[in-house]
Amino acid sequence: MSPDIHTIAVLGAGTMGRGIAHVAALGGYRTQVFDPLPAAREAAAAAVRRNLDKGVELGKVAPADAEAAVARLSWHGELAAAVDGADLVIEAVPEDMELKVETFREVVRHAPQHALLASNTSAMSITEMAAASGRPQRFAGMHFFNPVHVMKLLELVRGLETSEETLATLAAVGERMGKEVVRVREAPGFVTTRINALIGNEAFRMLQEGVASAEDIDRALKLGLNHPMGPFELVDLVGLDVRLSILEFLHPRLGEAYRPNNLLVQHVRAGRLGRKTGRGVYTYDADGKRQR
Ligand code: NAD
Repeated sequence: MSPDIHTIAVLGAGTMGRGIAHVAALGGYRTQVFDPLPAAREAAAAAVRRNLDKGVELGKVAPADAEAAVARLSWHGELAAAVDGADLVIEAVPEDMELKVETFREVVRHAPQHALLASNTSAMSITEMAAASGRPQRFAGMHFFNPVHVMKLLELVRGLETSEETLATLAAVGERMGKEVVRVREAPGFVTTRINALIGNEAFRMLQEGVASAEDIDRALKLGLNHPMGPFELVDLVGLDVRLSILEFLHPRLGEAYRPNNLLVQHVRAGRLGRKTGRGVYTYDADGKRQR
């Protein structure tokens, strides 16, 4: 166990929060999850159970470890209860700076003085959240990837005033959660979000210019560059609306290459948001099978 971290609070039990709770509990930490929505808490608890069972079935998780992980998890409808006694608080609420700042202001009213604070934001300023928390040296970004229990990478993001001690402790926590840790200095989109947004935007530009079909652009990146998924397969999974909002955030900060491509904007306006709406760049049937 990493030094001094025994209890982790996870704020938000959505796609990311439930995954972070899974790896934290499996890593041996008492894990206290907060989400204001009862339905989100129930869905998250069921998803963690299902994914742990799947791990057991595949021989990746020992049955006793899965049971112990479930026993370490608790689900809360009040933030104060979830951060009570926490040595580390990881925030995974929706990507909205005002909401994140408000959340951290409440965290510092209830969490122990010594607690480290982390945000799972995909792109936003760690330094801005750190300043609002009033604990900038004990604040960093912990950027996990979806699905958290499967993806190996953790981007550990250093804000302007994050201390070396905080980073070292969080790196140890990340390793304990089974992740490989990459250290990044704060910059819009860190490493992964920034590069991925650029590739995805360029792919739409090429499609608009008629350079190749969507299928062939996907095949080219998979077969020629060894990407596990093509950019259109990936954006259909992530959501075209999510990708658009990331580009809208990065464009004023990183320049013209990030101006959202018009074809992407049109897809979003048409409601073609990806797998979640049955239609994005590709079309899917009710079982999620691709139609063309
Ligand atoms: P999500 O919408 O799936 O989940 C957000 C959860 O937060 C919901 O269950 C919601 O009920 C809850 N919530 C709303 N207000 C809250 C509050 N005030 N306090 C606590 N919980 C609250 O979102 P997500 O995809 O899990 O994203 C969460 C964060 O992780 C965002 O900052 C996002 O940018 C980042 N992120 C997402 C991905 C991804 O692939 N989805 C990857 C990396 C990082």
